[in-house]
Amino acid sequence: MNAKYIHKHDVLIVGGGLAGLRAALEAYDSGADTAVVSKVYPLRSHSVAAQGGINASLGNAPGSKGDTWEDHAYDTIKGSVYLADQDAVEVLCREAPGAVIELEHWGTVFSRDGRGSIAQRPFGGAGVARTCYAADRTGHNLLNTLYEQANARGIKFYNEYFVTSLIIDEDACMGCVTLDIPSGELHGFASGSLILATGGYGRIYERSTNSLINTADGKSLAYRCGAALKDMEFVQFHPTTLYGSNILISEGARGEGGHLLNARGEQFMSKYAPQARDLAPRDIVARSIIREIEAGLGFKNEYVHLDLRHLGAEKINDRLPGIKQIAEDFANLDPAVDPIPVQPGQHYSMGGIEVDIGGATNISGLFAAGECACVSTHGANRLGGNSLLEAIVYGKMVGKKAAGMGYNSARISVIEDAVNRESKKLESFYSRPGEDFAALTNEMRKAMFEKFSIFRNEESMAEGIRSLVGLRERYENIGLKNRAKKFNQALVMTLELGYMLETAEIVALSAIKRKESRGSHYRTDFPDRDDDKYLKHTIVKKDQEGRPLISFSPVRLGLFPVKEGGY
Ligand SMILES: Cc1cc2nc3c(=O)[nH]c(=O)nc-3n(C[C@H](O)[C@H](O)[C@H](O)COP(=O)(O)OP(=O)(O)OC[C@H]3O[C@@H](n4cnc5c(N)ncnc54)[C@H](O)[C@@H]3O)c2cc1C
Repeated sequence: MNAKYIHKHDVLIVGGGLAGLRAALEAYDSGADTAVVSKVYPLRSHSVAAQGGINASLGNAPGSKGDTWEDHAYDTIKGSVYLADQDAVEVLCREAPGAVIELEHWGTVFSRDGRGSIAQRPFGGAGVARTCYAADRTGHNLLNTLYEQANARGIKFYNEYFVTSLIIDEDACMGCVTLDIPSGELHGFASGSLILATGGYGRIYERSTNSLINTADGKSLAYRCGAALKDMEFVQFHPTTLYGSNILISEGARGEGGHLLNARGEQFMSKYAPQARDLAPRDIVARSIIREIEAGLGFKNEYVHLDLRHLGAEKINDRLPGIKQIAEDFANLDPAVDPIPVQPGQHYSMGGIEVDIGGATNISGLFAAGECACVSTHGANRLGGNSLLEAIVYGKMVGKKAAGMGYNSARISVIEDAVNRESKKLESFYSRPGEDFAALTNEMRKAMFEKFSIFRNEESMAEGIRSLVGLRERYENIGLKNRAKKFNQALVMTLELGYMLETAEIVALSAIKRKESRGSHYRTDFPDRDDDKYLKHTIVKKDQEGRPLISFSPVRLGLFPVKEGGY
């Protein structure tokens, strides 16, 4: 392997999901020479799996007339348990209606109401029906729309290119090194600005709704070169994933009127959230399900039921065709006839690479957007329908900002040196006889699921951290059984495991540091929220020895006063 291939672009985007594609369109339309690098074909990004919808205060649904961006912002901030930065939420909610209309004009086939307007359904933690949707295949529709727009403009794609490291010179990001997966060759990229849009890290956990490719790459790449990670302890567990496979059963199913039932057939959510009931925010519903199961009111001590039978076959076919298909294919049942067995599963990462409102990190030339970033619109708990929105709104903002940076005339020798260094590093995987990635990956997922799950406490988290440290040490000697050069997925998974182990340890260290309960971070040893000490963001950066250093930073308040209050 040597530096045969060097590419140059003004704006280089890593990630072909919604955030990456929206950033690419904006950067291109602002006049920048723009390219997208993606480890899978863009239409296989996890965004394609999004089901339930995208929020905007259009006020189309009966009962939601007069909805405003301020109402949307209030619900988002309350749902975040006041940890979201309120200026970032303001941008998100103000821009939402325009963003949805733009997507519609670009060709997204949103579901319609009787008058022909974009239909909106209720979602958890929202005061009114505010979630726009394309049946239960919203992400599929949105991603295809943006991909079409990108191809119509002729934006350059490097598909099946896997980023192995970022290149930093004189404290600025100069580009990245990638592995062209099919050929096994390394390619260097020189860029004026680089945007990470690499999605979530769900696969550090067992029982995740995430795609196999959601492996924390961007968070770890940024952290390794000195960027800060923010609020990493906040991990969302979705209340309703299919028992056994943990495929997502959209919140849209409860938005359309579905209920959770325990083994006695009771609608138990009225006990835990008397007003919002099944449509309380996800952290509350997920905890309630576990409490029912622990009280012996679940099935097989593992799951509860999601009942859609009363909606009738016609509504299920029209509004939830994907859920019906998942239930048929993976549980062999018809949701119009049988309830669906569901249990909570890891779903989303609220934390990520710390960025300002323009998407800039603390490293010059390095930006981030979408699920890998934390501009902090979700705080301690994200509301359903807000992350597609964040990817679109902040994808656009970061695209514009990055395009304005121009080309930094990176010294090509810097890129070549980086490629050569990377080449030696990858070759060492081929020559070591050590164990391969598979067992380590499973052990990490188990440790995270058992020790850093919906309920946490000091003792079990400390055990979890010891397991993760042991895994990190074993990783230092990891080898490859598959020694092929071309299409070596084992090599890719080994590198992904490196990203995941690093990120898992940061999630764990952040979680043990926050001695309170807030949103998705619930500690049985500190069950109360403690605003005096912890209405703060957790920030993790590498110290001089390369170890994680944790500090806290203030939350940007302003729009709405901090309050107590349930659902
Ligand atoms: C099953 C499911 C359903 C969901 N439903 C909803 C919903 O209805 N509403 C809602 O608001 N949110 C929903 N979400 C969340 C939402 O879909 C995601 O947060 C959002 O789509 C993330 O978009 P993204 O562009 O940040 O990342 P992704 O779409 O995950 O894209 C990441 C991209 O990064 C690339 N990449 C990663 N690492 C590398 C690397 N090392 N080298 C090169 N490329 C790399 C990948 O190839 C990919 O193109 C759902 C999530 C899941 C899992």
